[in-house]
Amino acid sequence: MSEQAVLKIISGVGAKGPACFLLEAQGKRLMLDLGYGPQPGLWPNVDDVGRVDALLLSHSHKDHIGGLSLMPKIGNPPIYATEITAKRLPAGTKVNPLPLKGRGDVLGIPVDTGRNGHAPGGIWMRFHGGTGLLYTGDYSSESALYAFDPLPKSRTILFDCSYGDDDTPLDERLKALAPHLAGDVLLPAPADGRGPDIALHLYRAGQTIRFDDATREAVRDLTGFARACLRDGVDADLAQLAESALPAGEPSGATFSTPADGAGGATAKLFEQWENASQPALVFTGYIPPGAPAERLVKEGRGAFLRWNVHPRMSDHLTMVRTTGAATVIPAFCDRKFLPALQAALKPANVTMDQVLPLV
Ligand SMILES: [Zn+2]
Repeated sequence: MSEQAVLKIISGVGAKGPACFLLEAQGKRLMLDLGYGPQPGLWPNVDDVGRVDALLLSHSHKDHIGGLSLMPKIGNPPIYATEITAKRLPAGTKVNPLPLKGRGDVLGIPVDTGRNGHAPGGIWMRFHGGTGLLYTGDYSSESALYAFDPLPKSRTILFDCSYGDDDTPLDERLKALAPHLAGDVLLPAPADGRGPDIALHLYRAGQTIRFDDATREAVRDLTGFARACLRDGVDADLAQLAESALPAGEPSGATFSTPADGAGGATAKLFEQWENASQPALVFTGYIPPGAPAERLVKEGRGAFLRWNVHPRMSDHLTMVRTTGAATVIPAFCDRKFLPALQAALKPANVTMDQVLPLV
């Protein structure tokens, strides 16, 4: 293996797809995330990757950890993640801890981490050991619930570009959402992501909130062992919300259910009860996989899709380049068609979707 550090894209650059990257540095091979989806049936191809020394997980969403069944193909390496992320992995998964914010060590390579403002336990990772690489995983600077630690100086950044060149701020999204959220509404949303974030927003606005079991448990976790990933000053409101939220099942108020796409669980049961009624409103706020019940309901006009931001906007990409001083940035989780717009906007940084990138 050459001495120079190299980043290899296995999946997740050039199209929306599962996160899976390989960082080779100091004679070690570190895999960054091993996702599945978000489209059904989409696996990263790790057949030719060979043996990996460690797997680092940025956060617990399916498109970052859903490929753990592929571990035998890469030699069952030790897994590194925060303790909050570890609790969301399949039972019995052994994990070496990474800090939520601070300096960790992976096989002798120092790794700085910070909270990603996107999911409980989620982190960005800044690698030393001659790599100059920052991997943002998914991140958002706009959440009122999840804390986001500023991105550090780095020469090369593999960054969350899930929204391509979109620059609509959350405030504007909220204005568009407001009329849809004013009455009785079902909001299928991830419990380990924007669900609690939207619920806190509506609770603070005086709405009656209802939770399915998974969302209630996630909000309780956020007031307990996962509280370190919260923004300052939200503990009290969140604890009140956890206590006062009613169970899902009645159409009144704002109901939060899982999964977001309606393919099973509490959401599927509530669809059965309510999809042929005129109320409550059905509002989808995030990625809808093709073929999911959520897609059908939006197509039929029974449901509405209005995005709630959980990924960075174009102006965040600009801030990222400016504050980190990055010379090279690699947009992940978006289509290749955004490359020219990103190259124009992020000058003088070199914006590339190359699949193999030597690191300086
Ligand atoms: Zn995510």
